[in-house]
Amino acid sequence: MARADAEHGIRPFARLFKDAAEQLRNADKGFRHEFHTSDSSRSRSAHPDRLAEGPSGGSGDAPPPRSRPSDPYPKIELHVHLEGTIRPRTLLDMARRNGVVLPADNVEALSEMYQYRDFDHFLEMWRTTTGTMRTEDDFRQAVIDYAREAKSHGVEYVETTFSPINRNKWDGIPYPAMFNGVADGITAAAERYGVTVRAMPSMIWGGPPDLAEECAKWAVRYRERGIVGLDASGNELGRGDVSQFDRAVAIARDGGLGIVPHAGEAGGIDAIREVLRWNPDGLQHGIAAAGDPALMAELVDRGTVLRVTPTSNVGTRVVADIAEHPLPRLREAGVRCSIGTDDPALFNTTLGQEYELAEQLGISPASAYQAGVDGALCDDAVRQQLQEVGEAAFGDHPA
Ligand SMILES: [Zn+2]
Repeated sequence: MARADAEHGIRPFARLFKDAAEQLRNADKGFRHEFHTSDSSRSRSAHPDRLAEGPSGGSGDAPPPRSRPSDPYPKIELHVHLEGTIRPRTLLDMARRNGVVLPADNVEALSEMYQYRDFDHFLEMWRTTTGTMRTEDDFRQAVIDYAREAKSHGVEYVETTFSPINRNKWDGIPYPAMFNGVADGITAAAERYGVTVRAMPSMIWGGPPDLAEECAKWAVRYRERGIVGLDASGNELGRGDVSQFDRAVAIARDGGLGIVPHAGEAGGIDAIREVLRWNPDGLQHGIAAAGDPALMAELVDRGTVLRVTPTSNVGTRVVADIAEHPLPRLREAGVRCSIGTDDPALFNTTLGQEYELAEQLGISPASAYQAGVDGALCDDAVRQQLQEVGEAAFGDHPA
């Protein structure tokens, strides 16, 4: 994991990163989504920008017009954390409903507040946003609002991860509130925007196995309402013996869910090799495989699709700079890579921007889309539909 100054590599991509380059240069590495278990000495992150442009859905608005050059072609996103999609306008709605007093009461000021200053401030901001998200309505709105945003970038299908374990244990939010909210959001996103959303809860790396098993059981109960898998995220370096989650994984598998853990980001090659014991249906990140030709060959043999998030990788400094991103090496080895945002509100990005960046790294929109079709945890009918959309846009043989 190089620690070189990220600014150097970002310069060629200044059009995409705009003023985020300076912020990314100052960013720290390794921040993940579970404060109660993360090791802050390793926790790092980039920071958000352009937050005010995030749409607030909620009330049946038509999707905003497509405007970016990349928008006309269809996209699939398999790696995005629901909590990382919360833009200021959505946050304000949640705060008003819940009587939460935020440090600012308008989009402009909140956007300023999102600005990265230092890591402590960043953690404070993350706690503010996730702590404001408390009710079934909040989880529902988060799904709807992100579907609307992603639709504006041409998305057809989104698979989002969310992290209910600590919210239940530490904040007392009932599992049904979170799962019902997500499930209702999935229904509404399809009705309002024609976006197919599927979701999966995440276990916490290094967290108590019994809580992971409880989470897996809840996920299985919602299988008919759009919950399609089980993730594992958090501090990958603190994952410990991954076999402690074997039972949770078995519960999910027996319940018909897929397994797509975070591995091969900060945790490197070892993390990927360890989770292969679960025969995962995909990997969130997985980019560390680029340093091991044998492992890449194994992923190719398995047909494993990686869910790669370029800007996030630079923001966390898992990749020292964008010019050194391993996407070209993965592509050369034949590893399938789909493209996502990870935490768009926090990494100052959008799905359109990530697809553009991936294209500059050698992953064509058609290739990213097809990897999304093949790696999605959806049922066969949805996959067929996505395939047809892709063929209409890119032809029968995507590059
Ligand atoms: Zn992630």
